[in-house]
Amino acid sequence: MKYFSADQIYTCGPEGVINDGVIVCEDDGTIVDILHSLPINKNCLKVKGIIMPGMINSHCHLELSYLKGQIPTNTGLTGFIEKIQSIRTNYDRQHIAACAQEYDYHMQQEGIVACLDIVNDDFTLEVKKNSRIFYFNLIEVFGLNENYLNQIITKAKKIYDLFRHSQQAVITLHAPYSVSASLLEWYLTTESEFLSIHMQECAEENQWFENGTGRFKDLFDQWKVKQSFTMPTGESSMQSLLRVLPEKIKTRLWVHNTYTKPGDVDRALKSPVENYWCFCPSANLYIEGILPDVTIFPQDRCVVGTDSLASNNELSIWKEIKVLDKHFPQFGLEHWLKCATITPARMIGKDTILGSIEPGKRPGLVKITDPVKESCRPVRLI
Ligand SMILES: [Zn+2]
Repeated sequence: MKYFSADQIYTCGPEGVINDGVIVCEDDGTIVDILHSLPINKNCLKVKGIIMPGMINSHCHLELSYLKGQIPTNTGLTGFIEKIQSIRTNYDRQHIAACAQEYDYHMQQEGIVACLDIVNDDFTLEVKKNSRIFYFNLIEVFGLNENYLNQIITKAKKIYDLFRHSQQAVITLHAPYSVSASLLEWYLTTESEFLSIHMQECAEENQWFENGTGRFKDLFDQWKVKQSFTMPTGESSMQSLLRVLPEKIKTRLWVHNTYTKPGDVDRALKSPVENYWCFCPSANLYIEGILPDVTIFPQDRCVVGTDSLASNNELSIWKEIKVLDKHFPQFGLEHWLKCATITPARMIGKDTILGSIEPGKRPGLVKITDPVKESCRPVRLI
C-alpha cells in the first residue's frame, strides 16, 4: 500500500478539492481511500503543492511529431494546410516513428494517461503497443478528389484493421471542408458511433460554407476539386454538417471551435447525442493568433487537446490548462483540471477507471509543486 499527501488534492470527482488529505492506493495505483489525516506509523510521500488525476489529451496527432518547428506561426489555416502538404512526404518512416516514440515518452512525463490521437498512417502502431498511455485511435479520412476515393477507403480500412486488433480505434472525418460527397457517404455507412472532427478553425471556413467565397474557394479552384455539399449552403460549417449527420453517431467531438457561434452550439444541442468541445489554445495561437470564446459552450462538455507539434511546441496538457486559465480565469483551476480529466474520461467511456481520484479507480496520480509558477512542470507519481 502507498500513501501520498499534498497541500491540496484535486480529486476532480465528487469530493472536490481536499486540503492536506492523504491518498491511499495499491502498488499498481488503484485508489483504496482518501483520508483526511495520516494514519500513525505509515510512510507517506508528502507533496508540496497539488496532486491531481492523470490527464487526458483529447486531440493529438502523434505521427506529426517530426514536424516540430517546421511550420512558421501565424500562417492562417489555409496557409498552414498548404505548408503541411508541401513538406509532409519529405521524411522516412524510421525518423517519423522515432519522433513519435520521443513524444509518447514526453506525454507520459507530462502526466498524460490517455490520448485521443488522429491517425493517417501506421507509423505510431508499434510505439503505442508498448506505451503506458491508453490510446483512442481516430483513423482519419479526408480527400476531395473523387478519383482517389477507392484508394482513400482501402487505406483507411487497412489502418483501422491494424490498430483495432491491439487498441481502441474508430474511423473519423478530418473536417467538413475536406471530404468529397462520396467519401462522406461512405463514412456514414461505417459502424463509427464516435466522430472527432476539426471544426471552425478559421473564419474562411464559415465564409466558404455560407457564401462559397474566400481562401478556401481559391485553394479548391487551384486543386480543381469540388465540395461534398451543394455550395454555398447558406449556413456555417458546423450547421451545414449537422444537417447530414445521423443520430447513430452518438458522440461528437468538435475540435478547435475558434469561430463557433452560440447559434451553432444551440443547433448541435438539439440532437439527442453527446456533444463535446475540445480546445487546443496553443495551436490556435500558433496558427490563427486567436482563441475560441470558451464561455459559449456547456462547461461540463469542454475538453482539452494539444493538437500536433506542427502547430505547438510541446505536447503538454498542463501547458494548455495554464493558457486557458490565464485567458479565462473566471472558471478557476479546478474547472480546467476537470476538462482534462473526468470530462474526457466520460466522453470515451473510461470514467470507471480514469478521470478522478476515487476509490476503485486507477487514474494515475500527478503532482504539481507550484501550479501558479509559469515554469512548473507536472510529475507522474504513479
Ligand atoms: Zn488537429
